[in-house]
Amino acid sequence: MKVETIAIHAGNIITDSNRPAVQPITTSTTFEHQENSMIYTRAKNPNRLALEQVLTKLEMGEDAAAFSSGNAAAMAIYQALPPGSHIIAPDDMYHGIRKQLVEIFRGVHETSFVDMSDLDEVRASIRPETKLIWVETPSNPLLKIADIQGIVALAKTYGIKVACDNTFATPIFQNPLVLGADIVMHSTTKFLGGHSDILGGALVCKEQNEFWERIRMVQHVGGAVPSPFDCYLLTRSIKTLPYRMRAHHANSMALSKFLSSHPHVEKVFYPGLPEHEGYGLAKAQMSGFSGMLSFTVKGGADKADAVISKLQWFTHATSLGGVESLIERRAAVEGPDTLTPANLLRVSVGLENIEDLTADMDRALHASK
Ligand code: PLP
Repeated sequence: MKVETIAIHAGNIITDSNRPAVQPITTSTTFEHQENSMIYTRAKNPNRLALEQVLTKLEMGEDAAAFSSGNAAAMAIYQALPPGSHIIAPDDMYHGIRKQLVEIFRGVHETSFVDMSDLDEVRASIRPETKLIWVETPSNPLLKIADIQGIVALAKTYGIKVACDNTFATPIFQNPLVLGADIVMHSTTKFLGGHSDILGGALVCKEQNEFWERIRMVQHVGGAVPSPFDCYLLTRSIKTLPYRMRAHHANSMALSKFLSSHPHVEKVFYPGLPEHEGYGLAKAQMSGFSGMLSFTVKGGADKADAVISKLQWFTHATSLGGVESLIERRAAVEGPDTLTPANLLRVSVGLENIEDLTADMDRALHASK
């Protein structure tokens, strides 16, 4: 099956004898005891099973576990590691997951933050107790590209697991499990949900081993699972994912080219631009460059804030991956310990007409003082 067919059909588990074309929502939290029946919705639910099935197939893995948020999915991996583990994570990554490592797992695990695009730096930070390399590529918010195969080759020689946050790329453009990673993580709140109305997360494994069993246990016993309704909505959104992603890619490509020749723009961060540091690698491991870009504005943070205030079609809001374009100055959101440049604007490029988007951006860049 090709990806468009998987997206539409793999998320249907029809058990009703009327054979509905779309899987109904099963809201029951409990099930009558029968041989092989589901027992309790925190452990298993038909809608979650259907969602996990389509995610497994899209990422070409063996199994998937759905969570109530991307953060809950990431945390399940850290909770499944033995206490005292050393983790290597990127210096540029989603700040909420960085905060988990720094704040929640302080005293449980130790984390080294490194430039994941530099394999020598990754190699140099490996210790005997290193259990996990956490990769995020493209990274949030600098769109840095990490070499998944190179990191996996390095990790394998030391028996270290590799998990990859694939939220920005989506399974449409990048399949880390095929490139050798052990686990893929998603904030399904973003492109997979696609309409800014579902919070969710997921993990997909390459192999159902002992570590995966522990993750499944954390999901079930920890209980951070999505509701049947959210699973239904997400499965519904995934049906159009391949088509939405191609349009996000096309609009982002065009907007990044437009911005890179704009007199008020300092630098554009988009892996689809040949001048981007990770362009060659991104081209090799991704089949499209997806829908996220960042750029720095000449004139500093105040000018960047002024640009946001003049925009009509880009909503000033956090999050990403919806059909509507969003923009925010990340340093303002990430707080005082941020490593993000103060004049950097991160854009989630939506599916509006690209001429409207570029005209709006041009007007705002020229109008703000
Ligand atoms: N990973 C990335 C790359 C993200 O951008 C985010 C959220 O912005 C997350 C993970 C966390 O996901 P959630 O907000 O669904 O918990």
